[in-house]
Amino acid sequence: MTPPQTAPETVIVVGAGIAGVSTAYELALRGVKVTLIDQRGGAGEGTSYANGGQLSACEVAPWAGPEIPWLVLKWLGRDDAPFRLRPKMDPEQWLWLMRFLMRCRTSARRERIGPNLELALLTRARLGAYEEEFVQAGAALDYQRKEKGILRIFRDAHELGEAEREAAPLARMGVGQERLTPAECIALEPALAPAMQRGDIAGGLYAASDGSGDAHLFSRALAEGAKRRGATFLANADVRRLVTDGARIRGVETAEGIMEADAVVLAAGAGSQALLRPLGLRSYIYPVKGYSVTLPAPEGNAPEVSITDEARKIVVSHLGGRLRAAGQAEVGGYDLTLEPGRAKSVMDSLESLFPQTGPSRGAAEYWCGLRPMTPDGSPVLGAVPRFSNLYMNSGHGTLGWTLGAGSAAAVAALICGSAPQLNLSPFSISRF
Ligand SMILES: Cc1cc2nc3c(=O)[nH]c(=O)nc-3n(C[C@H](O)[C@H](O)[C@H](O)COP(=O)(O)OP(=O)(O)OC[C@H]3O[C@@H](n4cnc5c(N)ncnc54)[C@H](O)[C@@H]3O)c2cc1C
Repeated sequence: MTPPQTAPETVIVVGAGIAGVSTAYELALRGVKVTLIDQRGGAGEGTSYANGGQLSACEVAPWAGPEIPWLVLKWLGRDDAPFRLRPKMDPEQWLWLMRFLMRCRTSARRERIGPNLELALLTRARLGAYEEEFVQAGAALDYQRKEKGILRIFRDAHELGEAEREAAPLARMGVGQERLTPAECIALEPALAPAMQRGDIAGGLYAASDGSGDAHLFSRALAEGAKRRGATFLANADVRRLVTDGARIRGVETAEGIMEADAVVLAAGAGSQALLRPLGLRSYIYPVKGYSVTLPAPEGNAPEVSITDEARKIVVSHLGGRLRAAGQAEVGGYDLTLEPGRAKSVMDSLESLFPQTGPSRGAAEYWCGLRPMTPDGSPVLGAVPRFSNLYMNSGHGTLGWTLGAGSAAAVAALICGSAPQLNLSPFSISRF
């Protein structure tokens, strides 16, 4: 899997979510003629539309861990369970589950923290660079970014201690989380006062260098940025298949016919495996459905710091006058039906954490999306075996916003024949 010596002249990027728009932008920056294609009407309208908004370099551990099988059993049959398994007659689901279960070990979780953290730190650097490049181009990259940190709150002192121990390796890598008493949590984020009065906060872990932002606004702005640098964006264009020519990908087929390019990047999120399957390739990317609720932020007492509530299993971010809560994980196939009970449980959790959101409940917008998850919690990046000009930037699961721009920068460097900013082998499609 050696990178090509020279940059390709033309590249097709399939998928205009966080991963795809960032890849298109990074390639356009390097002078490549990019065509970005999405089946939806605009950029960031898939899973990148209404996620939790957290840019959480200090929380890059995979979900798979020793506690997960017990939690799934504990919540079995509960309609509002934060994790839910819906078995399907689908061998890809069972293969994914088997590999996910094999990763439910402390050592497997630890193994992924270093590579994910490197990507998250590269993402931070690239987001800063994009903002500067936009200013130089006479534009603004506004995605309601807040750099007030992320506070993880715990109801149980024992769990707080465990989480602090788990976070220790990150501290050694330079992205520490500070342990806070309940009073310190309120001093940092006064909007949490009602939760503390009810005895819901045993303490917190604060990552001052993390933040939040709106991934949909970002995706739209970055697609525009790529267009300014010569990229073409084809919306409402479903890619039916990748067209092969021996050991090369010739291009992609849409309703308009076959479109050719020197290289193709698959950034189709949860839609990636459907395009790989006919080529006999398995990425182990499988959808894990999540929900969010977005409502007007209560005036005067909305949280400014992004919150991860470890007991309620939700994250909350303040995105420019709106408050968003996100949570829930369901391994149940590609169905995007919004189940009112699951959506309501995210709203109920938000209201129980921040009772001041109650009056805005009527104005809440509910959404669900499919996290493109790998069993080990790291994305699939880089070259694909058997095809000399096919690349992946997909499978970011719970961390696509946190890892997206860094992934795009590294994949674009590889495609253009320069050394990627980090070692891509931990993200290879061949690792499973
Ligand atoms: C409830 C929830 C909360 C989350 N919270 C966070 C968070 O706080 N922080 C964080 O870092 N991450 C979070 N995530 C994860 C993050 O949102 C995802 O990892 C990220 O959006 C994935 O981006 P993507 O570009 O890979 O996929 P997508 O955004 O889904 O983009 C893929 C695009 O490909 C297109 N596509 C697919 N197939 C085809 C085809 N055949 N032809 C043409 N186009 C195609 C789709 O239309 C889509 O637009 C959350 C996810 C959910 C669901």
